[in-house]
Amino acid sequence: MSRTTVATIHLGALRHNLARIKAMAAPAKVMAVVKADAYGHGLERVARALDAEAECFAVAALGDGLRLRAAGHRQRIVVLSGPDQPGDIAEMQRLGLEAAIHHEAQLAWLAEASARRGRLRVWLKIDSGMHRLGFAPECAAEVHARLAGMPGVDPGIGLLTHFSESEVFDGDATRVQIARFDEATRGLDGPRSLSNSAAVLGWPGARADWVRSGGLLYGLSVVEGKSGADFGFRPAMTLATRLVAINRTAKGERIGYNGTWTCPEDMPVGVAAVGYGDGYPRSAAAGTPVLVGGGRVSLIGRISMDLITLDLRTAPQAQVGDRVTLWGDGLPVESIAAQAGTISYDLTCGMTRRVLFVED
Ligand code: PLP
Repeated sequence: MSRTTVATIHLGALRHNLARIKAMAAPAKVMAVVKADAYGHGLERVARALDAEAECFAVAALGDGLRLRAAGHRQRIVVLSGPDQPGDIAEMQRLGLEAAIHHEAQLAWLAEASARRGRLRVWLKIDSGMHRLGFAPECAAEVHARLAGMPGVDPGIGLLTHFSESEVFDGDATRVQIARFDEATRGLDGPRSLSNSAAVLGWPGARADWVRSGGLLYGLSVVEGKSGADFGFRPAMTLATRLVAINRTAKGERIGYNGTWTCPEDMPVGVAAVGYGDGYPRSAAAGTPVLVGGGRVSLIGRISMDLITLDLRTAPQAQVGDRVTLWGDGLPVESIAAQAGTISYDLTCGMTRRVLFVED
């Protein structure tokens, strides 16, 4: 094997996680969110693993829907940003995809859509407070009526909104968003979808008809101080490499680029074959946990493109060639993300082509 850094995707964990989301969300149904190459886990791989159990996939863009259909998946697929250009609509009809509709321009394109290719299922996206995509709540009824009058649109129009901070379980923002959405959609027919992963955990009153879960599917949490495992989910990715050198470094010597870490005593410093060229975050701070042969050690010094340096005083038995786990099994990716000033999703999405992906 020419590459040392390996991302192992745990297919059993994916299945466990989907089953757990389904059990938590029931009677609401689950859209399995597989955008961004399934949060870096591999779109086709994840869809294949979940094919028998997933009723519906959600993707960001038409191209991902095309890939899922090309791989033979027949279930419902929702494109969360809808069509990006007029020609996308005929393609979505042809592929039997569903489109979130969030903008006036898309309404104009849809008005031209012919029913001959099949009526397009749409989800009317309402901006209840995130201020990213969606129609203002006060426009919801009018837009719904316009959509209902379009010959190329399926009459079963869905109603959808997205939360900006549902991981804050006692915050007001989500309460306000739920209230705005309820008010905007009162009296409108159609399935409703509000919740993302964190809302499935913390906002049971918002499960409605469909939840849209990505993070938890991969065992990832964005709840401060909590890992997916804390909620009974399993990590779907383990990133690991090997120890390629162990050096005895003298007290007072400075480690790595710009010498940001100074040895407090004579000590063993390990070098592992991973760096920001693989997607390990360059912003990871000294003290970030790493497992060497199962024992916990700390990152020291700057992250290089191909290498990281480790304080091996807590792993005196370590040898060159030992397995080094960067995150996943036994080491929550959330704890690395916290040290790098980001969220777990950012790390799993950031694997580069140099990393070898395998499945178990
Ligand atoms: N719905 C929409 C519109 C999204 O943009 C996302 C992801 O950002 C999700 C659902 C899934 O969110 P999560 O991965 O937190 O479950």
